[in-house]
Amino acid sequence: MMSYKTLVGLEIHVELMTERKMFCNCKNEFGAMPNTNVCPVCLGLPGALPVMDKEAVEYAIMAGLAFNCEIEKTIIMDRKSYFYPDLTKGYQISQSDFPLCKGGFLEIDLDEGPKKIRLERIHIEEDTGKQIHTENGTTLLDFNRSGVPLIEIVTKPDINSSEEARLFLEKLKNTIKYLGVSDVKMEEGSLRCDVNINVIDEERNIRTNISEIKNLNSFKSVVKAIEYEQKRHIEALENGSNTDKETRRFNELTGETILMRKKFQASDYRYQFEADLTPIEIKEEWINEIRTAMPELPDQKKRRFMKDYKLNEYDASILTQSKELSFFYEELTDLVNDAKLAANWVMTDVLRRLKEEDKELSQLNLTPKALAELLDYVKSGKVNNNTAKKVLREMLETGESAKNIIDKQGLIQINDEEELSRVIDEVIKDNQQSVEDFKNGKDRALGYLMGQIMKKTKGKANPNTANKMLIDKINKN
Ligand code: ZN
Ligand code: MN
Repeated sequence: MMSYKTLVGLEIHVELMTERKMFCNCKNEFGAMPNTNVCPVCLGLPGALPVMDKEAVEYAIMAGLAFNCEIEKTIIMDRKSYFYPDLTKGYQISQSDFPLCKGGFLEIDLDEGPKKIRLERIHIEEDTGKQIHTENGTTLLDFNRSGVPLIEIVTKPDINSSEEARLFLEKLKNTIKYLGVSDVKMEEGSLRCDVNINVIDEERNIRTNISEIKNLNSFKSVVKAIEYEQKRHIEALENGSNTDKETRRFNELTGETILMRKKFQASDYRYQFEADLTPIEIKEEWINEIRTAMPELPDQKKRRFMKDYKLNEYDASILTQSKELSFFYEELTDLVNDAKLAANWVMTDVLRRLKEEDKELSQLNLTPKALAELLDYVKSGKVNNNTAKKVLREMLETGESAKNIIDKQGLIQINDEEELSRVIDEVIKDNQQSVEDFKNGKDRALGYLMGQIMKKTKGKANPNTANKMLIDKINKN
């Protein structure tokens, strides 16, 4: 039996949500009219000089701290030279030998326990313009994106499967969202991922050459591309050949990767010091200021939820999996004043709905306040659980409040023992056979009788009270 080990390293570009671009005063905004947020600096006109944006550096340092990196003492920028139509200067201002953040790691949760994925570096650089290929064969250029600040996060090849890659990306995305330094929308290009992959034949100690898969635009594509490449590399090893060191592109329609170009060497880029930007010293006090201003991160929040709300680890990690969900849960808990009840409803009914409709929480027709109103009915026993679930479904469909739906349909639970007694007597009278069956030890008959009670009360009977009263009455009968 051959044993193969897959090595995956990721390079992730994240656009920072700063007010301004990295080296000029143009607005950093997505979706504006093409070429309206441009100036001589980000168009790369001769003689225009870049000035470093402070906010961009702060955001990048924040990311470095969140991923446990060491922060460099001086910012040194380099020119990375290559030709591309969306790169007006003929070089990108980036970082080569002195990335702003070094080392670091991010932990993912596997079934067998937590695993550390180490980072190589996080460096800062400017984004390029955007090419738009039209149907009639022309290519348009939009330079609004030119000069938007990016961080490039490079991992070590510590990822050993497509599933680990997915978990890593989800954790990374979530952490950056909590930090608030990027909106990390893959569909808008503010999070972009390249995969480096090769396979080792551990028995014979040979490894394939690394392939790089560029421009993957969803986590699903990352997973599929890794799985496709894994197979291709193993096949090469089994045929006694090897893969070429090359850059490939993933075709979403076929699920295959195709050759894009032979891989560039770092030396092809002719990195050189960017003399237009003076090195900036990063003082310890500045880092401390940034650290203090950092918001709570997913792992911290998870521990706090376990402590403050007495949630178990599983529930706490589900509820902190996304920033929106964690805020929704906290607000709901504050309003209902019952952490366990809130957790149950968010984790079952709300999450199920999101999954069914493949939606984000923000797209759902539900605020914590609206759900809290419904849960107050549950807590006080005015509405039973099953009815409440139906009310929630209707709230989501119509956007109406819990109170309106409950009032309009008269769904308040029947707790009144006199009223229940009357209904139960009727049910007993009409179903003598079932009563006998129950007396003779057929427990199922009780379920049938309860069903009749619920039917007569349109589901509004308090199930616990009705059940107790029914058994009492039968026993006295
Ligand atoms: Zn500009
Ligand atoms: Mn880059």
